[in-house]
Amino acid sequence: MQPSFDPTAAHFASRYAEAFAALPVAVQYGFAVVFGLVIGSFLSVVVHRLPIMLERAWRAEVDAAMPDNPKPAADAYPERFNLAVPRSACPHCKHVLRAWENIPVISYLALRGRCSACGARVSPRYPLIELATGALAALSLYAYGPSWGAVAAFGLCATLLAAGLIDYDTRYLPDVLTLPLLWAGLIVNFGEGGFATLHDAVTGAIAGYLFLWCVYWLFKLVRGVEGMGYGDFKLLAAIGAWLGWGALAQVVLIAAVAGAAFGIVATWRKRMRFEEPLPFGPFLAAGGAITLFVGTPLYALFG
Ligand SMILES: [Zn+2]
Repeated sequence: MQPSFDPTAAHFASRYAEAFAALPVAVQYGFAVVFGLVIGSFLSVVVHRLPIMLERAWRAEVDAAMPDNPKPAADAYPERFNLAVPRSACPHCKHVLRAWENIPVISYLALRGRCSACGARVSPRYPLIELATGALAALSLYAYGPSWGAVAAFGLCATLLAAGLIDYDTRYLPDVLTLPLLWAGLIVNFGEGGFATLHDAVTGAIAGYLFLWCVYWLFKLVRGVEGMGYGDFKLLAAIGAWLGWGALAQVVLIAAVAGAAFGIVATWRKRMRFEEPLPFGPFLAAGGAITLFVGTPLYALFG
């Protein structure tokens, strides 16, 4: 099964897509990469701030439900804290980044990976996320041509990247990412010529959730361990909604093999203990992104 996406389908081809397609190819890719770098810069903010915002929201709920409980200590972040406010600052000296210090990748290179005020190291993670997002934008354009389908594919990749990184950092997959992603998949596949037929997309959303739900309860009943969480079910449901149920077996296979390989290497390098549960989300996300671009060649191996 190859991705069934048809870039000439009416709801993906439009005057805007046609105008973009008329540009020289180099300009198209240049635009895609710059767009990807900028979105990557935003994803870094999402990955860092969204878990903090969610934790605050939970605390506020607990606080409202149990007003007599002692107040937990406030976190180290300012009172107004969302994806836009406050402006990015050095975590060591609180130096607020000026516009030229906030240019994706270029600022990191120009400042040699250090804060301009105090010289503290800036994590290479920021430019790496930006570069990865830029590459995913170029890959979306390459795979799906100058069309809204490429924009949709990139939206899926960017959300998978953010969700995977948050799961890796916090072992938590936020509903505010997985559930809209599921709906977006159903909407993208609503008309003719999406990534899957609407029938396959709805079946994929159901099967993705149920499959991991069953695996979860099997493990829990047989061995008494929780190998993954409900966020993983929702993420696989979202991937099923985008790519159709036919893609799910390959996505899970890639995720399981990649997760096992990562676990073995991490244990061997003493980065984690053997019994420690792995976040499964990053590997599901990788399996979804790979399948988006290459289709399902693994099925050929099994006839
Ligand atoms: Zn600093």
